[in-house]
Amino acid sequence: MENFDEQLAEDPLFGAALDTLAIRVGQSRSHEGEHSEALFLTSSYVFANAQEAADRFSGEQPGNVYSRYTNPTVRMFEERIAALEGAESAVGTSSGMAAILSTCIALLKSGDHILCSRSVFGTTTVLFTKYLQKFGVTTTFVNPTNYVEWEGGFTENTKLVFVETPSNPLCDVIDIQRLADLTHARGALLAVDNCFCTPALQKPLELGADLIIHSATKYIDGQGRCLGGVVAGAKKYVDEVLGFIRSAGPTMSPFNAWVFLKGLETLRLRMEAHSRNALELAQWLNAHPNVEKVFYAGLPSHLGHELAAKQQSAFGGVLSFRVKGGRAEAWKVIDATRIMSLTANLGDTKTTIVHPATTTHGRLSPEQKADAGITENLIRVAVGLEDIGDLKADLARGLGNY
Ligand SMILES: *Cc1c(COP(=O)(O)O)cnc(C)c1O
Repeated sequence: MENFDEQLAEDPLFGAALDTLAIRVGQSRSHEGEHSEALFLTSSYVFANAQEAADRFSGEQPGNVYSRYTNPTVRMFEERIAALEGAESAVGTSSGMAAILSTCIALLKSGDHILCSRSVFGTTTVLFTKYLQKFGVTTTFVNPTNYVEWEGGFTENTKLVFVETPSNPLCDVIDIQRLADLTHARGALLAVDNCFCTPALQKPLELGADLIIHSATKYIDGQGRCLGGVVAGAKKYVDEVLGFIRSAGPTMSPFNAWVFLKGLETLRLRMEAHSRNALELAQWLNAHPNVEKVFYAGLPSHLGHELAAKQQSAFGGVLSFRVKGGRAEAWKVIDATRIMSLTANLGDTKTTIVHPATTTHGRLSPEQKADAGITENLIRVAVGLEDIGDLKADLARGLGNY
């Protein structure tokens, strides 16, 4: 590469690998020379004199004014996540939902249409149907692995295609490159909610997506502490989103950004450990006589296995399975656990277990549940980092004795 040396002189991390970027990118040291990233808990910034205040406010001079606009700790996080996703720019938000809302408000207008996978986070569906609809933005939901449905779902007003892969809870795997081609042929933008894989396992921008959305609340934090979100992509789109966030205020808290920065440093190690534990648990469940079916793309029997192996570097930490029986049997397995936490959160070192039909997907109508494969005997496990033998024993207690 001809200008590699030049670029390296300008940016010592130019060309660095993900593990290095995850630990090094974005840090700006203060005059104190701190080694770890500083936490700037301040709502506003002081100016040297009236002229400087005027210049900062007018934008003539770059620099901090107020933490709804910029904060050094949040900026460090944004630069780091952008580097990991291979994005030109990124902006932090107060939650994953705030990232989705801000993207839609900033990039869509009344009359526009969203084409969305049917298997997205439940609240995303509520946001699109109940709230965006009020402002004249309509949404069509399609079966995520049926590309004929995707193609037929476009209208001349489709501006945004929205997808999660692998999906929750059945781990459907969607071909990002194929969907990006369909989307671009119709002049729309493809947004991928990369929450389940994180950039440690999947880089949707490299596969043609235009925007990455994250709930940083999940694996980026990794220990279930803070709410946050991210929008990443080309600067021209991220700037639009940033403009909305600055005006409307769903800003990332500097404290949360600091926690996420620390989370990113161990992200790949954790994602690989989550994936290892999940694969072993999926294989064990698959062989269990009281389990009807396991949904995990790491199993060769899963429909999305080959695609996931191509588009992801590991299969992720979330799996689901159907026990033999119905709701009573599923609840029995859940209630017999003593280690796993009965909670809807995921992406935590602590394993979580949930009954989707009566919790995360409880708002769906019976037809919607049937369509999405959310049966009464389905259990979702977001596999944490505890000892795998203990996790098997925790499920065996309820699976073995009905
Ligand atoms: C949790 C989640 C969200 C929403 O994120 P919050 O931080 O809870 O607002 C969006 N998408 C996916 C895939 C999620 O799991």
